[in-house]
Amino acid sequence: MIKAVLLLSGGLDSALAGKVVIDMGIEVYAFSAISPFCRCTPGDAGCEQSVAMAKQLNIPEKLVSIKDEYLEIVKNPKHGWGKGVNPCVDCRILLFKKAKEFMEKIGASFLITGEVLGQRPKSQHFETMKLIDREAGVEGIVLRPLSAKLLEPTIAEKNGWVDREKLLSIKGRSRKPQLEMALKFGLRDYACGGSGCLLTDPVFSRRAKDAINHGEFNMKNIPLLTRGRHFRLPGGARFVVGRNKKENEIFSRFAQRYILVASDGVPTATGVIMKTPSEEDKKIASSIILRYSAAPPGKNPVLILSAGAKEMVVAEKISEELLEKLRI
Ligand code: SF4
Repeated sequence: MIKAVLLLSGGLDSALAGKVVIDMGIEVYAFSAISPFCRCTPGDAGCEQSVAMAKQLNIPEKLVSIKDEYLEIVKNPKHGWGKGVNPCVDCRILLFKKAKEFMEKIGASFLITGEVLGQRPKSQHFETMKLIDREAGVEGIVLRPLSAKLLEPTIAEKNGWVDREKLLSIKGRSRKPQLEMALKFGLRDYACGGSGCLLTDPVFSRRAKDAINHGEFNMKNIPLLTRGRHFRLPGGARFVVGRNKKENEIFSRFAQRYILVASDGVPTATGVIMKTPSEEDKKIASSIILRYSAAPPGKNPVLILSAGAKEMVVAEKISEELLEKLRI
């Protein structure tokens, strides 16, 4: 029996693409890459959406965690970023290369994706798809069932493994044809899809660009970039201030960092300076913490804790103008 590898995201399109090919009698294996930038299931938990979708399709799934290579393409994408720090073209190339390795390992003959021509601004244009296939070394072996009739026949069609007549000619951003197919196939719970990528988020992207420019973009710092209010102190250190009780608790556990709280028993946010600060930076960070505390106007004490040491700094609340200048 002919085998194929489906790049399964957990979104609807890849599931539909898989279903079309499964129904033609091909033995389909799902392949899902877990990205450190997935908002649905961060960390190493595995992509719950894709696991659930593989179960619905009743096919085996291979989950692969990609970290360092992902970080590198985000920092330095050959084909550039989209609107955020999303290196979609490089990301697809990397994914296709990994899927091809898996395909060869299990003796499968082609790849299947849920891509729809013209659906995404950057990575799903005809010429871009060709470029991605070329650079990933998968030319002619990627079947895109949802748009296949608008594309050149692939090895799967040429060899008669799949019936081109039963493939589709969907294009553009409308979701109507896919929703109708989902109903027909009885597929459900496909909420995540492409919107789950943190790299397209404007706030995360702004912070990520700043972190890249300051050599701070690494696996350890990524969770931090999704939390708190961020400021760049004049001496160069990043200062992060909790926005709520949960973030304050998380930041107060950064024992080796410089943790700041307004003292004198006033309700206060917790802030963390991410590297050794200058005396001036301590003062400015203190004035920021006071801005996010219930301290009265005028001079107030701020407690700075670092690796067991305690220090008291007296400062005044920062002006809104300077605050905005320092905000990342
Ligand atoms: S949106 Fe994110 S996961 Fe999707 S192709 Fe772009 S970078 Fe990759």
